[in-house]
Amino acid sequence: ARPVKLSVHVHSYGKNRKLLLSRDITAVELAEAMRRDFVANVSHEIRTPLTVLSGFIETLQTLPLKEPERARYLALMAQQSLRMQTLVNDLLTLSRLEGSPFPGVNDWMTTSALLVQCEQEARALSPLIAPHGHQLTFDAGPACEIAGVQTELYSAMSNLVTNAVRYTPEGGTVQVSWTLLDDGRGEFRVKDSGPGIAPEHLPRLTERFYRIDRSRSRETGGTGLGLAIVKHVLQRHGAELHIESQPGQGSSFSIIFPAARVRRIQAA
Ligand code: ADP
Repeated sequence: ARPVKLSVHVHSYGKNRKLLLSRDITAVELAEAMRRDFVANVSHEIRTPLTVLSGFIETLQTLPLKEPERARYLALMAQQSLRMQTLVNDLLTLSRLEGSPFPGVNDWMTTSALLVQCEQEARALSPLIAPHGHQLTFDAGPACEIAGVQTELYSAMSNLVTNAVRYTPEGGTVQVSWTLLDDGRGEFRVKDSGPGIAPEHLPRLTERFYRIDRSRSRETGGTGLGLAIVKHVLQRHGAELHIESQPGQGSSFSIIFPAARVRRIQAA
C-alpha cells in the first residue's frame, strides 16, 4: 500500500457540531512533482545543445577560421540543431498522444508493409551507428493486417527496431518478426544481441527521459522519449509491450496486438 497524505478541514456549524472533511492529496502532489521534473528535464535537454551552439557561433565570430575547419564547425552546429528539432518533434508527438482521444478511425494495414518500412529504416541506420553494420533479419511471418492509426503504429514499431540497432554493438544481431499466436493475437517482436537490461530498470524504461546509458543514447541521436511514445501508442490501440532482457544476454521487445485488431489475409 502506498502512504497516503490527507488534507483535513474542520467545519463548525450549529452548537457543538463539527464536520470533518478529508481529502487525499498524495496524487495531486505526485502529479505536481512529476510536472516539475518534466519541465526540468526538457529545459536541460534543450540547454545542452544550445550551449554548444552558442559556443560554436562565438568561435566563428571571433576566429578567422579557414576551410576545412569552418565546414567542420558548421557540420557540428547542424548536428546540434537537428538534435533540438528531434527533441521538439518527440515532445509534440507525446503531447498529441496524451492530449487527444483515440480517433476511433482505423486503417487496416498489412504487417508485411510495416515490416518492409522498418527494414528500410534499420538498414539505412545500421552503418551510421557502426561502420561494419549489424546482422539484420526480418521475418514477415503469416500474411496479416492490423487495425489502427498507421503513423502511430509505424512509429511504435520503428522505435523498437531503431533502439535495437542503436544499442547493439557492431556485428551484433537484430531479429524482427511477426507471428500469429494460437489465440488470434499478433506479436511484433524485436530481439537483439545488445547489452541487455538489468531487472531494476525494466519497470521504468517507458518513463519520459529515463535512460540507462545516457551517453550512448545521446551519441546515437536518442531523446529519451522513444519508449514513452511507444507506451502511449500501444495504450491507445489496446496493445501491450513485453520486455524480456538480462544483462549480457540481449533484449527482446514485443508488441502484442489484441485478436480484434488482427486478421489473416491471402498471401499476395
Ligand atoms: P532513448 O532515446 O534514450 O533511446 P528510449 O525511450 O527509446 O530513449 O529508451 C529508453 C532507454 O532504454 C534507453 O536510453 C536505453 O538505455 C534503454 N534501451 C532501450 N532499448 C534498448 C535495447 N534494445 N537494448 C538496451 N537498452 C535499451
